[in-house]
Amino acid sequence: MADCQGPQEKMRKMEIKNFTIKEVHQSLIKKEFSVIELCRAFLARVESEDKKINAFLTITRDLAFSQAKKIDALILEGKELPVLAGIPCAIKDIILVEGVRCTAGSKILGNYIAPYDATVIKKLKAAGAIILGKTNLDEFAMGSSTENSAFGPTRNPHDLTRVPGGSSGGSAAAVAANECIFALGSDTGGSIRLPASFCGLVGLKPTYGAVSRYGLIAFASSLDQIGPLAKTVEDARIVFEAISGQDEMDSTSINSKFQIPNSKQILNSKFQIRNLKIGVPKEYFVKGIDPEVEKIIKDAIKKYEEMGVKIEEISLPHIEYALPCYYIIATAEASANLARFDGIKYGHSEIRNPKSEIRNLLDVYLQSREQGFGAEVRRRIMLGTYVLSAGYYDAYYLRAQKVRVLLKNDFAEAFKKVDVILTPVSPIPAFKIGEKIDDPLKMYLSDIFTVSVNLAGLPAISIPAGKVGNLPVGFQIIGRPFEENKILEIGKIFEQF
Ligand code: GLN
Repeated sequence: MADCQGPQEKMRKMEIKNFTIKEVHQSLIKKEFSVIELCRAFLARVESEDKKINAFLTITRDLAFSQAKKIDALILEGKELPVLAGIPCAIKDIILVEGVRCTAGSKILGNYIAPYDATVIKKLKAAGAIILGKTNLDEFAMGSSTENSAFGPTRNPHDLTRVPGGSSGGSAAAVAANECIFALGSDTGGSIRLPASFCGLVGLKPTYGAVSRYGLIAFASSLDQIGPLAKTVEDARIVFEAISGQDEMDSTSINSKFQIPNSKQILNSKFQIRNLKIGVPKEYFVKGIDPEVEKIIKDAIKKYEEMGVKIEEISLPHIEYALPCYYIIATAEASANLARFDGIKYGHSEIRNPKSEIRNLLDVYLQSREQGFGAEVRRRIMLGTYVLSAGYYDAYYLRAQKVRVLLKNDFAEAFKKVDVILTPVSPIPAFKIGEKIDDPLKMYLSDIFTVSVNLAGLPAISIPAGKVGNLPVGFQIIGRPFEENKILEIGKIFEQF
């Protein structure tokens, strides 16, 4: 008799690995198990799995249980609750959660306690989500593998010898290892989509301005966006809806709720599969792409075709300049944003090191930054300072800004002909830990298919498409600004096919 089963048994029967937001919501409402029991089960899983994965940098047990208690009480009262109420999640450790350490994966912020909640956290808390902890990342989100973390690499749950992608690798690995139901990441040049692809998840990089960046430690402010990593398109949509919207604390945020038609509106109006046109840029299928990855992406395109979607070859003529353009703009902005970590205002300071030889203020800055930042972050600060310096500004930074406009125009032209654009996320599946860490240029090439989206400020989603051996591979759907719901729907159609 079902009613005689204990909550543990019910949870085991449901299998944590298949949990989606809606299912868990239903079970909580039906009181099949409590939020506290759910939290216990997930934290036990973190304890057993994370020794090998290293997805989490901080576990917020007390925060989780106090929130869980509140939601359980509301459920008992029979209150109608948002679908995220009681859902365990994890947060990339570059997003501030009040009273919780926020390291940005860096030694320089090793002991930094966040003084306030980021807007996305306020929204998640208000929706009743349960924050289990903070996840590992490449230092200040600079990287594609999560190996640039000051706290050791995260391992890909599908193959522990491989990277989970980066920089939101901890968030992706936590979801893929079923240590939480969804996670937040940030994406400046691919950091949500690449780990989603490598870990077999759905990852959404929203339109620039759709989600507030208030309380996100800045890497490159004109490119950064926060977004969800989840197991299904529907889960990603639920989280995106909860975190998006205008915020007076981020002047670049836009009232997207008015602009983003919801799924029903899309399905009822012009969005019909037979009228849909997917553009495939010819520049994305040339050299350097792994043949097995290429096959998976081409098979995905074929599936859409079989469903009745029109596929059209398009051209993004300036796309070959996207990567160099990104690495000029992103490093320039990073060098300015990271100037605030000076050994005085925040975190690590060599003043407190009795062995350091500090004679003056400049020594404090230089030595704290040298000790506090890792090699990749120092490299980018130097690159960024160089491209902004007098005499080089016009040749590098200004030129990159002009190329950025050309890229935006390429996309705008393409979107006159097609509804969305489909590309690979990465030319290769997850690579081995250590394989690229000594060669920054090779590492930067992992982002070749993703950075243009950030430069143009567009929304894009990574959808699981298949596997090379046991390694997941995703494809990317890029949409017009604020057409998140359209790319989500198109992803869902593939997921359900
Ligand atoms: N891998 C890219 C970089 O290293 C993108 C990082 C990101 O999106 N945060 O800059």
